[in-house]
Amino acid sequence: MSTLALLGGNPVRSKLFPAYRVIGEDDRAAVADVMESGILSRFLGTWHNDFFGGPEVKAFEQEWAQAFSAAHAVSVNSATSGLYAASGAAGIGPGDEVIVSPYTMSASAVAALVFNAVPVFADIDPVSYCLSAKTIKARITPRTKAIIVVHIFGNVADMDPIMELAAEHNLTVIEACAQAPFATYKGRPVGTLGHMGVFSLNYHKHIHTGEGGVVTTNDSKLAEKVQLIRNHAEAVVEKKGVTDLVNMIGFNFRLGEIEAAIGRRQLIKGPDLVKRRRDNVNYLEGRIKGIPFLSMPQVQDGIEHVYYVHALSFDAEAAGLSRATFVKALKAELAPTELREGEGVLMGEGYVRPLYLQPLYQRQVGYGEGGCPFKCPHYTGAPDYAAGSCPETEDAHFNRVVTHELIRPPASRADLDDVADAFCKVAENMAALRRMEHG
Ligand SMILES: *Cc1c(COP(=O)(O)O)cnc(C)c1O
Repeated sequence: MSTLALLGGNPVRSKLFPAYRVIGEDDRAAVADVMESGILSRFLGTWHNDFFGGPEVKAFEQEWAQAFSAAHAVSVNSATSGLYAASGAAGIGPGDEVIVSPYTMSASAVAALVFNAVPVFADIDPVSYCLSAKTIKARITPRTKAIIVVHIFGNVADMDPIMELAAEHNLTVIEACAQAPFATYKGRPVGTLGHMGVFSLNYHKHIHTGEGGVVTTNDSKLAEKVQLIRNHAEAVVEKKGVTDLVNMIGFNFRLGEIEAAIGRRQLIKGPDLVKRRRDNVNYLEGRIKGIPFLSMPQVQDGIEHVYYVHALSFDAEAAGLSRATFVKALKAELAPTELREGEGVLMGEGYVRPLYLQPLYQRQVGYGEGGCPFKCPHYTGAPDYAAGSCPETEDAHFNRVVTHELIRPPASRADLDDVADAFCKVAENMAALRRMEHG
């Protein structure tokens, strides 16, 4: 049995893992064509044919809508912008509550605050790490207006019961799909399982355009509102003949022609990139699933997971060791990834701290010094942001979850074998780690 790197032995791997490079010659050629055209954006913020953007933006939206079986796709310059535009389109306003997962990127909850509504955090399901109808139901009040369901880690929330519950209470459901493009639920792609879906095209996602995003919907009214909020609604409603002025305060969330042109190429590559991740996960899990104190992600029947990250569950009691020491030992056996060397080994404890623990919610300071919208006269509720308010989320984050990104293409079998060897080596040396930990 070889000595763990953490205890002075040689690491399993010191060579960097290959970078996740999805930009190729096709993207370069598409960008060159846009450069040649001289039109880097064709949007006009007034009611005009160019209100909807230039040729690449329009083609990208059409192709995205087709790929995700959506009636409408509206491109935006980030998923954050998309979440804000979708929240505005949902009619969220002062006095409203929006139920959201606390185990996600911060913008999912800020989307409510932007429209002066208050985020209410529901707990995650401990297996899927997503919201469930059960956890959402526990948070519904007469003030609830919408639900933001996050398909976290590339998994998909159990949407049918959530949509039933939403229909009963007349709530708009926004699917946050940033980590789950091309994931499916009972054969249907994410993005139109709810009323709107929001995708990210930032550099870290399965497919990317540097920065970018897309909002999908089957509802033409919602699509129109997202288009308006994306592009200076207030300056356009009159000429466009829009009479419902709720949330028609616009932004500039427009995507450029270069990003749209790249997005069209990315869309073609997406399904293969996702399949390769899935194959890599299958291979890796085949080698490490016997480790008794680790559980592999459990995917509900009818769901195709797309593994934005590979989220394992660590059982500290069964291991007789803290998660911190386990992850430290694993990371010592492995190497960083090209282009992201500064981040160290792409593996970590938990994901993001439950959002309600951020100062924004702990101190309830949003707009101005009076604590709006939390303390606005329009708002009659009292959200619970206390530590302990979402126990499954806290257990997952602080005790159980170990995430890593080493399943991304172009990881070869040899690369995956190094990852598996590191897991196995640490698992075989648990006694030495326990001795180290307990002095
Ligand atoms: C990446 C991500 C976002 C933000 O996407 P941007 O395009 O960077 O704004 C939001 N939510 C989740 C879950 C994400 O993973």
